[in-house]
Amino acid sequence: MRRKDLLDLAHKLANRYRVTDGKNFRLRDFDPADTAWLKEEQKPAANDALREGVEVLSELQEMLYAQDRWAVLLIFQAMDAAGKDGAIKHVMSGVNPQGCQVYSFKAPSNEELDHDFMWRCLKCLPERGRIGIFNRSYYEETLVVRVHPELLQRQRLPPELVTRKIWKERFEDIRNLESYLSRNGVIVRKFFLHVSKKEQLRRFLSRLDEPAKKWKFSVADAKEREYWKEYQDAYEQMIEGTSTKDAPWYVIPADNKWFTRIVVAAAVIDALSSLDLHYPKLDEAGEGELEQLRATLLRGD
Ligand code: ATP
Ligand code: MG
Repeated sequence: MRRKDLLDLAHKLANRYRVTDGKNFRLRDFDPADTAWLKEEQKPAANDALREGVEVLSELQEMLYAQDRWAVLLIFQAMDAAGKDGAIKHVMSGVNPQGCQVYSFKAPSNEELDHDFMWRCLKCLPERGRIGIFNRSYYEETLVVRVHPELLQRQRLPPELVTRKIWKERFEDIRNLESYLSRNGVIVRKFFLHVSKKEQLRRFLSRLDEPAKKWKFSVADAKEREYWKEYQDAYEQMIEGTSTKDAPWYVIPADNKWFTRIVVAAAVIDALSSLDLHYPKLDEAGEGELEQLRATLLRGD
């Protein structure tokens, strides 16, 4: 595919699932099984496009690194078995590991609980020139913690600060953080992998059937499924409360893994290619220095 066509395709796909203004956002308007204009039979062609996309991504990342001005933060959130790990693995497969860091945030430790809710994530923000990936993030603080209020109790917040407004306040704090980051050259893009309850069941069962996948399944995962509705409401309000132009959410259909990966790749390519990345140019003095260096090397000194 021509480079321009690939970038156009990425742009078109990214646009379709991007939410930049959460007002009136409704999760039910997004179908987890959607595959845009692509059909199941086009899967091989789609996979070819993904491979090309991964190459383009790798070139863009090299320039990001060399230019050393922008940082990129990609945040992934989803229900269990929606395919976060696979999407991260496939989309970032061509990227030089030196330019990319992945952090997974699990249930917080005692030390982490002794701090404000974003503390542990702020320590992991990407430096300039790098892509940082959060596999779960401070958004869990408006999801699992909201669905299970006892987790909020464990945070030992002063009681007068825990009011019914706490979730709205957290959304506001997150919006402010992300706006601060974008003003500092950190590009923030957030991905909600939207899987249906039916497809999650199918994947859980296949994990139980396949010895190589069994380890991925836990009683806790099955238990969280019982709170499906509460989670969907929490996700909806999270997207409603924290979608901005600077830090948009992508609501990505996750019932078909091949399609999920294409859209994630498209959104990352679209974000990076909008940055006008280029390799640093040397001025005349710099060029002269290199020419001298070449002469020295050739003399064998
Ligand atoms: P994943 O399910 O993302 O593939 P995993 O199965 O390897 O990861 P788990 O041990 O399931 O990892 O850890 C993730 C769990 O940690 C999730 O259930 C998540 O809700 C929980 N978690 C993450 N952040 C928080 C938080 N701030 N407070 C409470 N629980 C959290
Ligand atoms: Mg898990």
